[in-house]
Amino acid sequence: MTEEKHHHHNTPLSEIEERVKRLEALLIEKNLVDVRTLDQLVDTYENRVGPKNGARVVARAWAEPAYRDRLLDDATAAIKEMGYAGRQGEHMVCVANTPEVHNMVVCTLCSCYPWPVLGLPPTWYKASSYRARAVAEPRSVLNEFGVQLPDQTEVRVWDSTAEIRYLVLPMQPAGSEELSQDALAELVTRDSMIGVALPAYTAVARL
Ligand code: FE
Repeated sequence: MTEEKHHHHNTPLSEIEERVKRLEALLIEKNLVDVRTLDQLVDTYENRVGPKNGARVVARAWAEPAYRDRLLDDATAAIKEMGYAGRQGEHMVCVANTPEVHNMVVCTLCSCYPWPVLGLPPTWYKASSYRARAVAEPRSVLNEFGVQLPDQTEVRVWDSTAEIRYLVLPMQPAGSEELSQDALAELVTRDSMIGVALPAYTAVARL
């Protein structure tokens, strides 16, 4: 991926970030909100509200083979079908993990990220160390995230751009086949849709 092809969105984003920073400073100065409340709010969008959309997409792809096919064929349309569309989600590509191939996503130049399905990018995703190391030594990065893949599994790293945003379709955890889509969505973590975690399922014994 050359720098030229990576028409990224630094300019408009910076303006927005600039305005948000000024607004944040003003709110704190006027004692309208405290820093902790703001941090919690960001955390909510980063970790909970945002990624829930992506989790519903993944759960449906696990439960409905026809939807999975549509998602892999045209992710933008299949995601829009679920009602998730908008800025930073106009050109989506979904890459499916298999026993043979594990996908992970990075934006090597800035922090391109599919907002409609994942919310705000986490701090580590924007960090220069992740952006550089995800490409140079993906397996080491995965190990640090707690993911150990079999040696024979190929790791593919996808570089996001303003043109294309990737969503990883993780493999459905064994034993979860009978769960409802809502229950399946609970298994899907944000990090598993970036490709730095694997969803897990432990059946709870019913007494
Ligand atoms: Fe970017």
